[in-house]
Amino acid sequence: MTESSSPLFLSCALQKQGDWEIIGLPFDNASSYRGGARFGPSQIRLASDSIESYSPYADRDLDDLHLCDCGDLDIVSLSSADAVESIAAYYMQQSLAKKKLIGMGGDHTASIGAVKGLCDAGLRPVVLHLDAHMDLRDSYLDDPNSHASAAKRILDMVGPDHLYQWGMRSGERKEFEFAKELGTYAGRDPDALSVLCNKLQGEPIYITLDLDIFDPAELPGVGNPEPGGLRFIEFLHLLKGLPELNIVGFDVVELSPTLDVSGRSSVIAAEIIRELILTFA
Ligand code: MN
Ligand code: MN
Repeated sequence: MTESSSPLFLSCALQKQGDWEIIGLPFDNASSYRGGARFGPSQIRLASDSIESYSPYADRDLDDLHLCDCGDLDIVSLSSADAVESIAAYYMQQSLAKKKLIGMGGDHTASIGAVKGLCDAGLRPVVLHLDAHMDLRDSYLDDPNSHASAAKRILDMVGPDHLYQWGMRSGERKEFEFAKELGTYAGRDPDALSVLCNKLQGEPIYITLDLDIFDPAELPGVGNPEPGGLRFIEFLHLLKGLPELNIVGFDVVELSPTLDVSGRSSVIAAEIIRELILTFA
């Protein structure tokens, strides 16, 4: 693990020992189109310095929580297979120590390692995959750990009864058919997410959020932008409408800050992470 050279996530609020930890997963060697996600964690931390720890949406403050930003894993130069193993080893160790992790990607390959670590620790979470893309290819560009295969690798680990996918608007016809056949795809309708979450109440849930689920007009700094996406305000309404869930960890991946010279994508990513923390931690 490397000490973060950038500020801590909302440094004013954090560095209190507790159940929840933030970990940076700076890795983009498995990106299929445009890289830059390796800079995600450091730019989210920088952007977090510009936002408040208090959320008027949630009426909660990060200052009231016990959270720690643990820096970044040293994975930037690894192959995707080695990065997955390195992330999995860290997640297993922290999970056995009863820590819940908030992962900041990095491309979606990072989530394969995260879920592997939880499974290796004996926890088979229900994975809620929120993304513009299905990510169900068995491999992509000869890499089974490609970010385009993230959901497929997770499916292999947890099984079709423990994977739910929502928000997808891009993928091969056969990916959509496969997901419908398995029953993993819950569509794009907000009501469907709410129905699904009501069904999952009490289950240990891991959320993996690919930021390209958001509309590129609002959040352009992602490697594979897709028009027709979620708006930040819609996301807040979705969060507000969820029942109480047993969240065992989550990650927010695919921010490529170098692709957005305005810097707004990093600020929105920091606010998304704040809202997820204040909703679930
Ligand atoms: Mn995606
Ligand atoms: Mn993805």
